[in-house]
Amino acid sequence: MLNNIRIVLVCTTHPGNIGAAARAMKTMGLTRLTLVAPEKYPSVEATARASGADDVLAQARIVGSLDEALAGCHLVFGASARQRTIAWPQVDARACAALAVSASATEEVAIVFGREQSGLTNDELERCHYLVHIPANPDFSSLNIAAAVQVITYEVRMANLQAQPAMDGGDEEPVPLATADEMEQFYEHLWQTVIDIGFVDPAKPRLLARRLRRLFNRSRLDKNEFNMLRGILAAAQSQVK
Ligand code: SAH
Repeated sequence: MLNNIRIVLVCTTHPGNIGAAARAMKTMGLTRLTLVAPEKYPSVEATARASGADDVLAQARIVGSLDEALAGCHLVFGASARQRTIAWPQVDARACAALAVSASATEEVAIVFGREQSGLTNDELERCHYLVHIPANPDFSSLNIAAAVQVITYEVRMANLQAQPAMDGGDEEPVPLATADEMEQFYEHLWQTVIDIGFVDPAKPRLLARRLRRLFNRSRLDKNEFNMLRGILAAAQSQVK
């Protein structure tokens, strides 16, 4: 899925930043890099900063315009360090990642980053469906471009991991949840136990009962947990009988 997401760097000035962006991408499992009219490229500095992500650099597409970079894309995000004067749909990095990952199942997605000095122009931003902003310190919101690539590709990775079955225990059959009637048996048993062990005076109002219900309703017991807790209650009761 991540193969359908491309990172586009527009008119990058410092080749070191291109290498660092490639490294940031590779650490997060992204490999498709497009460079729009980079100022100095290829460059030994880019390769040095890629530090092992040279394969991402080697496969990078180099094009002359943003239009060429976005050819075939269905969904485009433009990363912006500042709030812009143009009113445009805006998302934060996390929301961008969720949209990008879900679209990437069937569509081509691009995330576009601007120049180190001046970012993206308004014309370029208008080519994007959404602006994506990393909600940084409002008094100092401009990240280095490779750092911005790192943050956004990290969110893409997290969104992608969440879209997949959990890694550990992912092969195990999920245990069905305890049913409402089982939970009623459990609450009755729990209540009897707190009386038996002297934790509550049954003559007093039952605020505790409601609190206990709230607690266990929140945790959505599965059948194994239900059986385990019933066992603990029975053992506690047997101590006082
Ligand atoms: N001085 C430029 C900042 C450029 S930083 C400006 O004011 O626009 C280079 C690129 O990194 C930006 O164009 C943007 O794509 C990305 N970037 C930096 N900080 C960001 C942030 N807080 N949110 C989203 N993208 C950011």
